[in-house]
Amino acid sequence: MTIHQEERQIQQSGRRGVEVPEALTGRMAPRFRVEGAAAAPVPAPRPVPIPVPVATGHRFLVYKQDPSVADLGVRLTFVPSVVLNGPADARARTDLAGTTPVARNASGDFVFAPNSPQFDCAHTFAVVRETIAMYERHNGGNPIPFAWNVGGNTDPITVFPHAGEGANAFYSRTAKALKFLFFTPQGQPPSSVLYTCRSLDIVSHETGHSVLDGLKPGWLSAGNPPQTGGLHESFGDLTAIFLALAQPDQAEAFVSLTKANLHDRSFLPELAEEFGKALGMPAGLRNADNDLKLSQVGNEVHAISQVFTGAIYDVLADVYLFETARQRRTKDLTVLLMEVAQGLCKLLFDAIVAAPATGALYVDVANKMLQISAGRGDPAIYRTFIRNRFAVREITTAATPLRDLMSGEMRMTDADYTGDGQDVTEVGPHDEHSASLRAEQDRSLCCGTMQMPEYQVVAPEKLARRGSLDDDDILRDELDELRRAFSK
Ligand SMILES: [Zn+2]
Repeated sequence: MTIHQEERQIQQSGRRGVEVPEALTGRMAPRFRVEGAAAAPVPAPRPVPIPVPVATGHRFLVYKQDPSVADLGVRLTFVPSVVLNGPADARARTDLAGTTPVARNASGDFVFAPNSPQFDCAHTFAVVRETIAMYERHNGGNPIPFAWNVGGNTDPITVFPHAGEGANAFYSRTAKALKFLFFTPQGQPPSSVLYTCRSLDIVSHETGHSVLDGLKPGWLSAGNPPQTGGLHESFGDLTAIFLALAQPDQAEAFVSLTKANLHDRSFLPELAEEFGKALGMPAGLRNADNDLKLSQVGNEVHAISQVFTGAIYDVLADVYLFETARQRRTKDLTVLLMEVAQGLCKLLFDAIVAAPATGALYVDVANKMLQISAGRGDPAIYRTFIRNRFAVREITTAATPLRDLMSGEMRMTDADYTGDGQDVTEVGPHDEHSASLRAEQDRSLCCGTMQMPEYQVVAPEKLARRGSLDDDDILRDELDELRRAFSK
């Protein structure tokens, strides 16, 4: 028997509760060993063999939204891949001085008392892992390289759940890291520390930056137009919404709470609730269910990002309404919401992959969405929703008259509805002179990622070439100047 056959036999017999002979366990591949695990109880033998489950993995205890969203609280989640003590795997590792590596418990799971340092490590890792897994599903099941994964480099990203004091969090290509800070909100006693790592929205937002930097390495540079920066911030926020809607318990809680109305007030469009409240914003740090137009937001990147996020959120609500009317008698509304969200997330993902490598504008992504939607055979009304929502926010020209939308007379349930009979898949920018298309980027209100010096000074073309960055890249201009000065 080869080692491989032996492993299979061990795996199969182990799963059916038959004890693995001790002489063999020492030869088992590491993936079948669980450190510190006690011998499992032996269930009664079953007369009919049952199929061997395909998934290996571990249970993690996580906050489903964040500590302030009490309805959802903490739940177990299953990460269906092998995770080493740390937690660590091939794509992500965790670093918390004095705590990591965190060891799995006797059942092979990462389940710890909420708000303990071990819990924070396990929770943060699980949310990062789920975010990466969601986008890998949209990438045909294939891994998405981090920006530094070139020329055979396989370095993972390092997750720092307690990276230091501050009301922020960030992704850094130079550090190959996601860093989550903690702070005491103003007017609160010193004991009421708020950890950004405990928010699903914040962790998935920052992980979204790292995924997008892998897909579009040229987009993070401040040398791009403000709208390219807006796409990065918006992608982070939309990642948090799509990740929530990829989880059945969150989707079901949302459908029950809002009676399946995406425009009802809820935890879903409100981003980073606990963090927002600490800063005096009762409806979260940002709200995806907004009505902002480009002409109302100037060129500050964080404000601009909300216009794109709002347009996509409205498209999500439109498509869900249309599909609910079409399928409510044949499908559960929670399942339907998950399918609609997954379909829109995939459309956005593919449109971003197809968009320009540098200087991408909202209209570029909108046009790719229209073209890919037509190519994959979505009903024509999907494109009407996309055109309408981008046009009404003054992002694109209105190829379809907005008359029906604005008068509330749009035929939301007619699959072929295009307004005037034109299923246009190429639109232009609403205002060629918009500051968001060409001004210098103002990132003063963005998350920590957008304020990293590496993205402020390194040119988009240099970032677009991928690869890791070091301090010399960031200081390049200054060092060149010093060299010139010192060689005189
Ligand atoms: Zn951000």
